[in-house]
Amino acid sequence: MNLILENLLGRLLLEKDISAFYNFTDQVNNENKLIKICAMTSVNANKVRCNRCGTIHIKTNVKLPIGAFFCPTCLELGRVRSDEYFYHLPQQDFSEKTYLRWTGKLTENQEKISNALCQQITNNQKRLVQAVTGAGKTEMIYQLIEQILSHGGSVGLASPRIDVCIELHQRLSRDFTCQIPLLYHEGDSYFRSPLVVMTSHQLLRFKEAFDLLIIDEVDAFPFRDNDMLYFALENAKKINGNLLYLTATSTDKLDKQIKKA
Ligand SMILES: [Zn+2]
Repeated sequence: MNLILENLLGRLLLEKDISAFYNFTDQVNNENKLIKICAMTSVNANKVRCNRCGTIHIKTNVKLPIGAFFCPTCLELGRVRSDEYFYHLPQQDFSEKTYLRWTGKLTENQEKISNALCQQITNNQKRLVQAVTGAGKTEMIYQLIEQILSHGGSVGLASPRIDVCIELHQRLSRDFTCQIPLLYHEGDSYFRSPLVVMTSHQLLRFKEAFDLLIIDEVDAFPFRDNDMLYFALENAKKINGNLLYLTATSTDKLDKQIKKA
């Protein structure tokens, strides 16, 4: 598989995302098991749901002159239309390698949490790490990230805050050996890597891509109790993937989500 095509794996793509690289009638469709997914689904006679962000709209509010419907909610990622499709190439494993180069030392407490996470987060788990700023949350998850990566898995880190993403990206780029894409806003600078840092909206661009999704500052606006982004999290992780929330404080909805796990 060539490099550009590899960059499409595990993503939820509009036709224009693919046609930027390929003539859409070429072999991408025939040879690579590209999965077609309806962009929007009718919920009933009056309502339609966007299959990227999960938002349900009243049809008359989102009708285009040509008769199709569109989703205004996730418009900034490219317009979703009811008469179009998403395209998806299933995620593939990465090579099993060691990526961690951090040689710092955890405190006894940090190590306890780190070990517990490595043991607990195996299959379809949700966990919450609540720690005040400066308690070394990031270093506590290094072992867990390394555990997933060394088995060929993929890890995504998302935060609603761009400043948090930039800082995470700097630290992970220093402490892991792989090149790490930083995805935010409109700039789609994605390249395939087992470790990805992104703002929370960018999760909507992925489908069943991550063995572990780590959400930092989950309590920060606009992530807080936001149905769309919980929908995105569930879609972006693999079916048996894991979710890890990092937070200084919690919210009612988050507490319920974790209990459900
Ligand atoms: Zn949408």
